Formats: sequence, C-alpha cells, structure tokens
Amino acid sequence: NGSNVFSTSSPDSLAQQRARLAQRLSIEAQLRQALQARELQLVYQPIVELASGALHGVEALIRWRKADGEVVPPDVFIPIAEQSDLIIGIGRWVLSQALHDLASLQGGPLAPLKVHVNMAASEFTSSTLPADLRAMAADLAVPASQVVLELTESMLMRQPEQVKRVMRQLRETGFEISLDDFGMGHSSLAMLNSLPIDSLKIDRSFVRELASGARDRAIAQTIVQLGQHLQLEVVAEGIESEAQLAVLRACGCRFGQGYLLGRPLPLHDLLAAFPKHRPH
Ligand code: C2E
Ligand code: MG
Ligand code: MG
Ligand code: MG
Repeated sequence: NGSNVFSTSSPDSLAQQRARLAQRLSIEAQLRQALQARELQLVYQPIVELASGALHGVEALIRWRKADGEVVPPDVFIPIAEQSDLIIGIGRWVLSQALHDLASLQGGPLAPLKVHVNMAASEFTSSTLPADLRAMAADLAVPASQVVLELTESMLMRQPEQVKRVMRQLRETGFEISLDDFGMGHSSLAMLNSLPIDSLKIDRSFVRELASGARDRAIAQTIVQLGQHLQLEVVAEGIESEAQLAVLRACGCRFGQGYLLGRPLPLHDLLAAFPKHRPH
C-alpha cells in the first residue's frame, strides 16, 4: 500500500518529482528487459466455494522475479507499465501464459477449472482484444467459459462505452467478466445493473473489518444480496481469519479467496495442495 511512486497526495518539491521520474524510468527500462529475460511469472491463488471448501477457480497474479532474486510486487510495476506501451506486451504475455496453464489442465482431474486474469484499462479499450483472445483460446483448445477476465470500476471511468462494447463482445464469445475490488470505485448501482458482468469480488477492505465492525458486516451482507438479486456470483477477497469466513458464510457469500484459504503459488504447487476439487 502506498508504494505507487505516482501517488500525489501532497505537493512535492522539484527534487522529489525528479527522483520519482528517475525511479519510474529505471523500473520501466528494467521491466522492458524482464519481459525478454523471462523474469515474469504467474502464481495462482485458489478461489474456493465457502460451504464445501472445494476449489472453484484460480486467480492468476503476476510476479516479477529479478535475476538477483528480488521480487517486485505488481502494485509497484503494473502502474508504471500502464503509463507506457509496456502494458500491452505484459498483458498479452499474462493471457498467453494463463491460457497455456489452463490448457495443461484439460482432461486432468481438476478440469474444468476457471482461471481469472486481471486486465489493465488499456487492454479493455483495445477493440482487437475479443478477436485476439478468441484466437488464443481456439489455438489451445481452451473453452472460453473457463476464462474469467477481471476489471475494476475505475477502468470504466475513461471510455465507458468503448469498454462496455469490448465487454459485450467478450461475453458473446463465452468469456466471463468479473468486477474486481467492488465497492472501492465510484460507479453507481444503476451502472452496475447495466454492466455486462458475471460476477463481482468484494474488496478486501470490507472483509478486513468483517468480524469486528457491524457496519462493515452490513456492507458485505448488502453486496452479497445485491449480487444475488442481479444473479451475479459473489467472491469475497482477502479472507484471513476463521471469524471472517464464518461471517461470510452466514451472509450467504458463495465464494471466497484469501490467505486463510490459500496463498498464491506456482500452479502445480497449488494443485498439489488442493486435491478436493469438485467439478460442477
Ligand atoms: P487483485 O486483483 O485485487 O488481487 C488480489 C491481491 O490481494 C493480490 O495481490 C493477492 O496476493 C492479495 N491477497 C490475496 N489474499 C489476500 C489476503 O488474505 N490478505 C491480503 N492482505 N492480501 C491478499 P498481488 O498479487 O500483489 O496483486 C495486486 C494487484 O496487482 C492485483 O489486485 C491486481 O490489481 C494487480 N495485478 C496482479 N496481477 C496482474 C496481472 O497479471 N495483470 C494486471 N493488469 N494486473 C495484475
Ligand atoms: Mg483481481
Ligand atoms: Mg481484487
Ligand atoms: Mg485489489
């Protein structure tokens, strides 16, 4: 948190601005090489059906492991990549890697598993995304219905009509769309009703206080009910304690994700740790 080198909460001196720019350019240059040098990797976090504990899907999360072993978290480098053309190359790499990983599971005991992929705003404004993704999935013989694309409310701010057009095209092809970090953005409930989405993820800031604060419990419960009324799947993010899990179950929240249920791991480590998948 707060590691975004662009956060501009207070007016900075010229020296501070220069230092930040230098840091951004340095990370950008290193990142450009990282893509070539295969320093990027995906780890996967389980998405679990809360009532049964069964594995429902996985979310792909990018990691940048530098040659010296240092791991740079996505909150640091994705915002920088988004300010240049780098995000397009990284985004395509993520999609390709996630689809290859999904293809490697076909026919195995865990298929059909849903794979969630986080998307950047500029990917969702690209009108070639639906056709490109359809071709990638067809090449790998991966069913589109097992691929869930995650976007955040803030991604709908700049070009809402273009983004919604891309969303509709993706869903026509069979891909699913999930609204990530729900509750943190500024979209109205009316807008939510008009969005072509299949699921929403309750931001972990609401889950954090769930077991202690009645107000947060009310918010979480309301989001779960909202999802039920709009026929959306609801996934709670950031479940860390048994107490949070119990409240979410009591609210009728069907799916969840968090360190309590499983940390992000390389795919095959995750699958080894999760023998109790039950397909539905
Ligand atoms: P997100 O999509 O909301 O992903 C959830 C983040 O919460 C992940 O952080 C995950 O490791 C973390 N998390 C999961 N369970 C818990 C928990 O119980 N407690 C806490 N405190 N955290 C938990 P991560 O992997 O650092 O990713 C951060 C953000 O970076 C993601 O948020 C997503 O917005 C972005 N991101 C990650 N991978 C990609 C990617 O491939 N492409 C793009 N465009 N963005 C990505
Ligand atoms: Mg996500
Ligand atoms: Mg999220
Ligand atoms: Mg988040």
